[in-house]
Amino acid sequence: MLYTIWEQFLEIVKKEAGSRVVETWLKAVSLHRWDALQKIVYLNAPNQFVKEWIKSNYLLLFQTHFSRLLNVDTLKIVFIDTLVHNDQSTVETTKIVPAQLIPLTQEPAENQLVKATTYNKHALNCNYVFDTFVVGPNNQMAYAAARAVTKKLGKLYNPLFLYGGSGLGKTHLLYAIANDIKASNKNIEVLYQPADRFVNEFISAIRFDKIHRFQAKYKDIDVLLIDDIQFISNKEQTQEAFFHIFNNLYNDQKQIVFSSDSYPADIDGLAERLRSRLEMGLVADIQVPSFETKIAILQRKAELSDEQIPYEVASFIASRSFNNIRELEGALIRVIAFGSLTKQPITLELAKHVLLRAKNTQQVGVDFDVIVKSLSYHYPYTLADLRSRNRAKDLSLARQVAMYLMKKLTNKSLHEIAYYFERTDHSTVIHALKQIQDRLRNDQTFGNHIRQLEEEIIS
Ligand code: ADP
Ligand code: MG
Repeated sequence: MLYTIWEQFLEIVKKEAGSRVVETWLKAVSLHRWDALQKIVYLNAPNQFVKEWIKSNYLLLFQTHFSRLLNVDTLKIVFIDTLVHNDQSTVETTKIVPAQLIPLTQEPAENQLVKATTYNKHALNCNYVFDTFVVGPNNQMAYAAARAVTKKLGKLYNPLFLYGGSGLGKTHLLYAIANDIKASNKNIEVLYQPADRFVNEFISAIRFDKIHRFQAKYKDIDVLLIDDIQFISNKEQTQEAFFHIFNNLYNDQKQIVFSSDSYPADIDGLAERLRSRLEMGLVADIQVPSFETKIAILQRKAELSDEQIPYEVASFIASRSFNNIRELEGALIRVIAFGSLTKQPITLELAKHVLLRAKNTQQVGVDFDVIVKSLSYHYPYTLADLRSRNRAKDLSLARQVAMYLMKKLTNKSLHEIAYYFERTDHSTVIHALKQIQDRLRNDQTFGNHIRQLEEEIIS
């Protein structure tokens, strides 16, 4: 119920103050708890800056609408990180709403035939074109293949199957294909359909006896773009229906493009004959972008919002542990918004102010896994590698850095650290600490690297 109230609240504020406020500020906080007895709404804020900003700008919005939504006359708004230590234990439960920041370019809300008449230059999804897609070694092949299919529909790579992790540009590419085709020939019927909507559409077609209409819809299209096809897994009947749609379109040489979070063979619960169809054209992957590509993406995104960001700001944002462009973009939006709202130029200082949390490690309560995860963005090793006995130079260094950060950023003992690395003897940890401390004394670049890691971990 709290979740719905939060959602309703965001809806109201969106109407009242605009979606920019919601996306940039309100979605950065989350509703933690409603204490009906004391009439206190507890909120989580990711850092001091967001908290202060909300308190000075939006408190009234919170009070007005929450009291209405919760049906009380008055209420208090309390940010949980403002509480004294003792109190905190009483409110420290699991989060109700994940604190997240969704960039302004959201996926389109409606399942839509991208029809000529509805093709609107200013619509959100029209940002998703080839021109705004930054190409790097991580997505080159997927990009080239997507461009190629628009030139020779149904003839070159059919189907085209794009796969990669979340927020890496699959939907963007699918939309780019749709937009490109529509721009060159308005008579081509392009259908963009996320697989989960396909599933729902199919279920309701069965339920309401509209299966003929459902089938007819898919007969008349020239290009079918199915986003996140993995959602069809374990849905046998839907797969069956889709199999026929696929075959019909394919036999008519209609272009089909899929996106997925994994390689066809890795999608569980897929009928074999469907899986083999997915693989029979071209399969191209999208990887996490390199540091340089992240910078290029940030600069392109800034340019698209008519902003210029200094290289050092782009580089600072890119160096934070975002492996997902959606998050990278979210951080950029927040920095730009802050600059424009406070009428300040976008500098490194400002970006740090916006993106770094208050450095109170005790409160943050870093755990080992967070440290290992942060390291994985900088070193090509898994936890298993770190735990292994392999003493290759780079791997040893990564392991020592991990141990050093664990000692520094947590309250855990040397024994506990050794145990985490599956070592019985904690002398390895002592040795690691010494190695890193020695190096820190002599190597400034290394010092910066360690500081950056610390910042990432505790923020
Ligand atoms: P996915 O569908 O893979 O989860 P999206 O296509 O929704 O990811 O991309 C998430 C966000 O990242 C979108 O705003 C998109 O424009 C942006 N994005 C991803 N890759 C690129 C890229 N190579 N160039 C520019 N923007 C990108
Ligand atoms: Mg997507």
